[in-house]
Amino acid sequence: MERLQKVIAHAGLASRRKAEELILEGKVKVNGKVVKELGVKVGPNDKVEVNEVPLEKEAPVYFLFYKPRGVISAVSDDKNRKVVTDYFPYINERIYPVGRLDYDTSGLLVLTNDGEFANTLMHPKHEVDKVYVAKVKGMPLRESLKKLEKGIKLEDGKTAPAKTRVLSTDKKKETAIVEITIHEGRNRQVRRMFEAIGHPVIKLKREQYGFLTLDGLTAGDSRELTPHEVKLMR
Ligand code: URA
Repeated sequence: MERLQKVIAHAGLASRRKAEELILEGKVKVNGKVVKELGVKVGPNDKVEVNEVPLEKEAPVYFLFYKPRGVISAVSDDKNRKVVTDYFPYINERIYPVGRLDYDTSGLLVLTNDGEFANTLMHPKHEVDKVYVAKVKGMPLRESLKKLEKGIKLEDGKTAPAKTRVLSTDKKKETAIVEITIHEGRNRQVRRMFEAIGHPVIKLKREQYGFLTLDGLTAGDSRELTPHEVKLMR
């Protein structure tokens, strides 16, 4: 027996949180009866319906995607801008991105229909290292980067310690390329961290997510994760 919201998330219909919302909104039926409580458990013989549609378990799929700049990390956009799933027109499964990259950020994004997998990766406890390369304004001094390494106060609290490495500087243009590794996933976190030390980000790319890299891919490309990679990420 498994919790109803887990079963819905597993079927690839929604994230666990979204599944909970669906239940609370009265959109979920078990054996023909609306269930509005979150504690209910169901077994393989129970008939679950979401919005009157019986739940069919989709086979889980996992993709690594090199998101270009100028694409929304969502499955639809009310302003009709390009979204990440536009790059997967041949996929029947309802995949969605694990976490988000800003519209202007490029780089590695995982997409899946496995809600449980997505939740695990996004949970702060999981501490997936994310490596970003940022082009920043000015040439940050060691002392400034130290502040990021110690953790810096942002409006939503102090950040966890980051790792930083200056990859290059351009004295003429007064810019630097800095690699930064964080494991949190707050909104616009890397941009806000550099802003806080007086070096706003000009360009941002996520190079790595855990042990996954963009090797062999160019912007707009994707590939399936191997079963071994999926196992290691869990
Ligand atoms: N941090 C940011 O500022 N932007 C991203 O897209 C990801 C991390």
